[in-house]
Formats: sequence, structure tokens, C-alpha cells
Amino acid sequence: MDEQPFSKTNRHWVWLRRGTQIFFFLLFVWLFLQAEYGGQELLAWPVDLFFRFDPLIWAAHLLTFSPLVWGLWWAVLFLGLTLVLGKFFCGWVCPLGTTLDGFRRLLFSPRPDKGVAAHWRRAKYYLLIFLLVGAPFSLNLVGLFDPLSLLYRTLAIVFYPAFGYGVEKAALTLYRLGEPFTYVSEPVYQALKATLLPFKPLVYLLPFFTLTLFALMVAAERVDKRFWCRALCPLGALYALLARFSLLRRRPVVLCPDCRDCQATCKMAAYAPEEPFRHQTAECQLCLGCLESCQEGRVSFTFTSKAPRAPLDLGRRQVVTSLAAGIVAVPLIRLGSLAKRPEEYLIRPPGAQKEAEFLSRCIRCGQCLKVCITNGLQPVLWEAGLEGLYTPRLVPR
Ligand code: SF4
Ligand code: SF4
Ligand code: SF4
Repeated sequence: MDEQPFSKTNRHWVWLRRGTQIFFFLLFVWLFLQAEYGGQELLAWPVDLFFRFDPLIWAAHLLTFSPLVWGLWWAVLFLGLTLVLGKFFCGWVCPLGTTLDGFRRLLFSPRPDKGVAAHWRRAKYYLLIFLLVGAPFSLNLVGLFDPLSLLYRTLAIVFYPAFGYGVEKAALTLYRLGEPFTYVSEPVYQALKATLLPFKPLVYLLPFFTLTLFALMVAAERVDKRFWCRALCPLGALYALLARFSLLRRRPVVLCPDCRDCQATCKMAAYAPEEPFRHQTAECQLCLGCLESCQEGRVSFTFTSKAPRAPLDLGRRQVVTSLAAGIVAVPLIRLGSLAKRPEEYLIRPPGAQKEAEFLSRCIRCGQCLKVCITNGLQPVLWEAGLEGLYTPRLVPR
């Protein structure tokens, strides 16, 4: 990309990024809709595609010595690309990032950040350490915080059933009102039934709990843009550890003292004030917002920059605390689970591994809930201990 006032080429890059972001979001939703039993043994589409490319899930399976890791090696490709391009996944691909951007634009008027997320920036690294340290002991809680799992199960438990219920009720009301409403409502309802609506109305446990967690993430957007991404996302933290060394870098590396407009534009606050406003590739999502907003045309992205990088200081004490917390959590959570009387109605999905093995493999994405044609699989709250949160159970009807 050339260094010149906002050129046609730069505009093309900005539109390409937006288009790519929308494409991957729609692909995520479309694959979500395809995860439905259609009368054949195997699903027609690779509905778990996004999870196969998820390095956080790959790392957790690698550390838990899960045989499933062999199906997840594609994730390494994304790690390699991050070393070259930086955190492109977050700005160009991640459907949760796109969702948060969409809700922010829809619900909140543009306003300057309050700067709270900046104080919590390192928390995502500590959360990542905490989650991965327990993995070699088969404590795999990664799915609770993985952004793809989180978005998928929120769609599956809250939004998709709510959408189906709303359409069914609206269609029924219009049907009762009769003509002329049915001239429009019936064809629309039949078209939705054939494409978007579930095979039968779905109801899941934990909708309010799940919606509350999601609403908190969205509400945090009012405080600071991409609060979740900046402060908490463990997948973002994993990418950031590699993006710190990425070859592609923004220029100028330090904010111009006569302007600093980029600082206001950047939704990741990728300039470290403590480091004379040096650009941090670990935080930058390559959203190109600064490229678009710079009136002087000074911004460009280059593979040839030799400028010093902003350091990443996680603090030895905090890192040790995260490691210790991850290790201590293993017996604490395990003993808590073992202390509970076995729940006699806790029936796992057909073909599930033994309980311990099952818990270490499940990524709490909710895909099995979505694909179950009888709506018999339901998410677990505390019935299997903290470790079992959001794992599936069979509730016979
Ligand atoms: S930080 Fe996490 S949620 Fe945010 S865009 Fe990146 S991977 Fe997605
Ligand atoms: S907006 Fe342009 S001129 Fe202003 S600080 Fe950023 S790169 Fe410099
Ligand atoms: S530095 Fe520029 S490209 Fe990077 S996240 Fe901020 S606005 Fe986007």
C-alpha cells in the first residue's frame, strides 16, 4: 500500500476488508444454519469449519493430548499467517468481532473511549495462561471463553430459537386474521420455513443466563470499542503473542506529534502511551481505520520496517499468579465435581466418551444442541460441576 493521501488503492483495501469481514460473518451464520439433520447420516457441509481453524481450540486439544488435534492442524496455518500479517483474523475474519462492531454501531452513538479497557489489556494474556495451564491435566475450559464457541452457543441457545419463535407467532397471528394478510404472510412463512427456520420450534435451557453474558459483552462496547477483544479474549491474546513479531507493520510506527488523530480512530487503542505512542502490532487488528482517517495520507503498511517494536511487559508476578491459579484450579474444580453426587439424570449424548474424557474434549460450542433434531440435547449449568458448564446432556421427553 502506497504512502499517499487516501488513494483509490487504499480505498479498495478498506472496502476489501469490510467485504471480507461481512463474507466471513455470513459464512459463519450460513454454516450455523446448515448444522441441521436433513435425513442423511452425514451433514452436507463442513459445519465445524471455523472451529477447525481455531488455534485456541487446537492448543487446548494439543495440551490435553486429545486425538482430535489431528483434525485441527489447519489452525496452525492461521498462526503462521499471523506471524506474517499480524492479527488479521480479528479485523478481517472473526465473526464475534464483526458482531460486536455491528451491535456498537446499531445501539450506541459514536463517542470517545473511556480508556477502561487499556487498564485491563493484559488480563486476556492472564486468562489465556490460566486456561492453557490446566489443559495438560485434562481440565479444558477453553470453550467457555473461545469467541467462536461463545458466539455459536449464544446463537444456538438464544437468538435462533427466539427468531423461530417470533416468526411462528407472527405467522400464526396473521393466519388467524385471515385475508388479505395471508396473501403475504403465508408465502413469506413458507419461504422462511424452507430456508431459515428450524425443522421444529426449539427451546433450550439457560437462555437468560446466556443472553446476560452476551449482553454484558455488548454493553462493554459503550465503555470502550472492542472492550472484550482488548481486555479479555483469550484467542485474541494467543494471536497477539505472535502478532507482536509480525512482518507487516504500520507506518509511521510512532504517532505524529502534530496530530494523533489515529489514536481517536483506532478501535483497539493500538498505541502505547507509555511508549511515546508507539504502534503495537500485538493489538492492531489491521482494520485500516487509521489508513482511512489520516487526512495527511501518512499511513501505510509495510513489510520492510526496522523500527523498534513496543515491548510487551506482562509482569513476572502476574504471570506466575496466572500459572499458579491455573494449576490450583485443577484440583479445586475437579474436587468440586467429584464431591457432587453423580447426577442420575445426567445423560450425555449418544456415543459420548467416558465423563472425564468427554469433559476434556467438549468445546462448549453448542453445535450438538443445534444439530439434534429432537431438541433433546440441552446445555448443562451446574449438574456436572463448574467443569461441565455448557456441556450437553440428553433430556428425554
Ligand atoms: S480479539 Fe477475540 S473476539 Fe475479538 S476479534 Fe479477535 S478473536 Fe475475535
Ligand atoms: S492521523 Fe495521520 S497525521 Fe495524524 S497521527 Fe495518524 S498518521 Fe499522523
Ligand atoms: S492501528 Fe490502524 S489498522 Fe490497527 S487497529 Fe488501529 S486503526 Fe486499525
